[in-house]
Amino acid sequence: MNNVFVIYTGGTIGMVRDEQTGTFIPFDFDLIAKNIPELARLNYNLRVHSFTPIIDSSNMTPAIWLEMASLIKDNYDDYDGFVILHGSDTMAFSASALSFILDGLQKPVILSGSQLPIGEIRTDARENLITALELASAKKRGKSLIHEVCIFFDNKLFRGNRSFKYNSAKFEAFRSPNYPVLVEAGVYLKYNNDALLNNSGMDFQLHTRLDDAVSVLKLYPGISKQVVRAVLESDARSVIMETFGSGNTTTDSWFLDMLRQTIRNGKNILNISQCKVGSVELGRYETSKWLKEMGVLNGYDMTFEAAVTKLMYLQGEFDKQSDVAYWAEKNIRGELTVQD
Ligand code: ASP
Repeated sequence: MNNVFVIYTGGTIGMVRDEQTGTFIPFDFDLIAKNIPELARLNYNLRVHSFTPIIDSSNMTPAIWLEMASLIKDNYDDYDGFVILHGSDTMAFSASALSFILDGLQKPVILSGSQLPIGEIRTDARENLITALELASAKKRGKSLIHEVCIFFDNKLFRGNRSFKYNSAKFEAFRSPNYPVLVEAGVYLKYNNDALLNNSGMDFQLHTRLDDAVSVLKLYPGISKQVVRAVLESDARSVIMETFGSGNTTTDSWFLDMLRQTIRNGKNILNISQCKVGSVELGRYETSKWLKEMGVLNGYDMTFEAAVTKLMYLQGEFDKQSDVAYWAEKNIRGELTVQD
């Protein structure tokens, strides 16, 4: 018998429509269990932990990530794997955060949810949950096949810290264009073994500090000095700069001077691209050569979700800005590919 621990945080999967207002509101896990009678037929020993309150994932917080992670740590030895039912809106942030704080996982942590509530006839919830449970308990010769935090949606298993919500209208809500799909569910579950994270020899440990002093500078042609200054001068320890194409910015001297001064003042600036596919390549164009020279950090092909949560994690781990900077550019949980 396989043992799976299910954490129910909320999201559309378990929502019902409020008759008066017509809006979707979160509901308890019994609704899910009642609508998937197949759960009782599965050869699993399921334990369900529901969060209170059950939330729409737009209300997710770093404190809840830590709460989920410590639940996993407390139950780690007794279960084969973990399924987290979660709203899709911020699922990629939660998956990314968990990938950093759950270090050296030897078991699967699968986040899933749905685009239509479980009570709707055409719901995608049933398939998503049943296959997520199967993946969370999959083993070969007594060992888990998956050792990382993933998102399962619409028949695909993605690395959590490589994914983002790309569509709010299709069942295919997630994509991870910079990293291959880990498992495809069809008639068979097709594992992409070369792409799965290999944590062999590592000890599982939980990191319990996140420092959310992170800010974001999203560039656009015509961005004003006031806007740039407001972001750079906030009290964040690190700034994520979302740049054009392969990591380019305007070369206006006022802009470059502000960046240079910010770095001199001890802040980190991490460059990720507004493009969803491809990587930052500092120095490829003249428009990014200056960034490299002044010490802007290379975020390579990281998603925005991974960049935000990685910096929170690193800032929680390290007091020294130079340590945060050093690790920000390294691949620590399969979240980026360093291009030479
Ligand atoms: N607003 C919902 C949530 O993120 C959307 C969903 O579950 O798909 O909780």
